[in-house]
Amino acid sequence: MIVIGAGPAGSTAAREISSLGWNVLLLDKSRFPRDKPCGGGVTIRTDELLPFSLDPVIEDVVYGAHLRLRDGRIVTRYTKKPITYMTQRIRLDAFLVEQSQRSGVEFRDGIAVTHVRRLAPDQFEVIDRSGEKYTSRVLIGADGANGIVSKNLGYENPIERAIAIEGNMPFFNGIPEEYKGMVGLNFGLVKGGYGWIFPKGDHLNIGIGGWKINVGNSLRSDLANLCDIYGFDFSKLEQIRGHHLPLIRPGTLVSAGGSAVIGDAAGLVDPLSGEGIYGAIASGVSIAPSVDNFLRGQSTALDDYHFFIADSIIPDIEKSRALMEIFHVLPDPFVWLLQHSDRFWSPAGSLIRGETTYSEIVNHFGKVLGSSLGPISKLAQLVSGRKAQLRSPDCQ
Ligand SMILES: Cc1cc2nc3c(=O)[nH]c(=O)nc-3n(C[C@H](O)[C@H](O)[C@H](O)COP(=O)(O)OP(=O)(O)OC[C@H]3O[C@@H](n4cnc5c(N)ncnc54)[C@H](O)[C@@H]3O)c2cc1C
Repeated sequence: MIVIGAGPAGSTAAREISSLGWNVLLLDKSRFPRDKPCGGGVTIRTDELLPFSLDPVIEDVVYGAHLRLRDGRIVTRYTKKPITYMTQRIRLDAFLVEQSQRSGVEFRDGIAVTHVRRLAPDQFEVIDRSGEKYTSRVLIGADGANGIVSKNLGYENPIERAIAIEGNMPFFNGIPEEYKGMVGLNFGLVKGGYGWIFPKGDHLNIGIGGWKINVGNSLRSDLANLCDIYGFDFSKLEQIRGHHLPLIRPGTLVSAGGSAVIGDAAGLVDPLSGEGIYGAIASGVSIAPSVDNFLRGQSTALDDYHFFIADSIIPDIEKSRALMEIFHVLPDPFVWLLQHSDRFWSPAGSLIRGETTYSEIVNHFGKVLGSSLGPISKLAQLVSGRKAQLRSPDCQ
C-alpha cells in the first residue's frame, strides 16, 4: 500500500499499518529533514497516541500561559500538569519518519507525486514527476491542505477559512526567562484567531493566525504588530512563512473503497486552537485497523475509519467551531474569564491535555448551552458580519 505525504499524518499511518505486517511505501516530495510552517506545539493528548516517547525532539515543556488581550496587561496562569510539548517540525517530522522506517516502512523522499488514479476500488496508480508509476491496493492521501490525492480522487476539499503565519526569533544566549516552560497567547489583535509566542531551545516561535477573509492580506503586518507589542524586533524574525488551516465540513467523505485522506488533507484542524498535529496523528492511528481489514478481504471499504472521523472527530470539531465563532465575536469577556476564573482556565487546560473534549465541556456548562450553542454561534457569525461572507464561494 502507498501513503503520499510524510508529515505526522502520513508517517503515523505508514508506521501503524506496517506494524500490522503490511508492505508500506511512504512518498514525500520534499527532501528530509524538511521544515514546514507550524508553531510546533504538540499537546499531551497527541503524545499519548504514540507508542514511543517524543523526548528526543522535545525542546520545552509548557506549564502555563501569559494571557493578554491586545496590548493590555499580561496575566500569567499556571497548570499543575504539563499541557503541551514544544518541538520544531523539522525535527519532529524526521523523527516520526525514522520511527516508521524502524517498523519496516520504505520511505522515499524527493518524490513529487503529480497524479493518482483509481483503476478499481482496490487498485490505484500513482505517477511521480519523473514519470515513474507505482500501483497499490490501498492509497492514503496525507499530502496536506490542497493535496493531490483529494483533488484527483474527487474528495471534497476542506474549507479554508483560517490562515496563519509564523517566524523564529533567535536568542543565542538562551530564551528570555519568562518564556521558559510558558507560552504567550494574545487575543483580539486579529479577527478569528490569536497570536502566540512559543518557547524553543534557542529561539521563540512567534506567530499569528485568523480568519482568512479578514486577515488574509494583513497577516505580515499583524505579525509585526504582535512583535512590537511584546518588544521584539520584527526585523530580526527569521524564516517567516504562512499556510492555510483546512477545516473539514460535517458530512464530508474521507474514504472511498481502498482510498482515504487523513490529517490536513481531510481538514482535521481544531478551529478554535488551530491545532492540527492531533488530527493528523489521530487519523493516522485510526486508519490502520481499517486498512488491515480491507487488505484481509474482511471489508470492501475503509468504512471504520470514515465512521471514526464522523462519530468521534467531527462532532468535537463542530463544537470547537461554534465556540470559536462565539469567542471571537467578542473576545474581551472570555479572555477576562480565562485570566481570572478557574472555572474557565481549568477546563481549558484539561482540554489541551486531552482529559476532556469540547463536547464534555459544553455539557459541563449545562444542557441549555448544549442546545443553544448552534443558534448562538450562528448569531455570532451574523454579529461579526461573516454570515453573508461565508456564503460566498470565494471564501472557501
Ligand atoms: C503557521 C501555522 C502554525 C501551526 N501551529 C501548529 C501547532 O503549534 N500545533 C499543531 O498541532 N498544529 C499547528 N498547525 C497545524 C499543523 O501544522 C498541521 O495541521 C499539520 O502539519 C498537519 O499534518 P499533516 O501530516 O496532515 O500534513 P503536513 O504536515 O502538511 O504534511 C504533508 C506532507 O505531504 C507532502 N506532499 C504534499 N504534496 C505532495 C505530493 N504531491 N507528492 C508527495 N508529497 C507531497 C508535503 O511535502 C508534506 O511533507 C499550524 C499550522 C500553521 C499554518
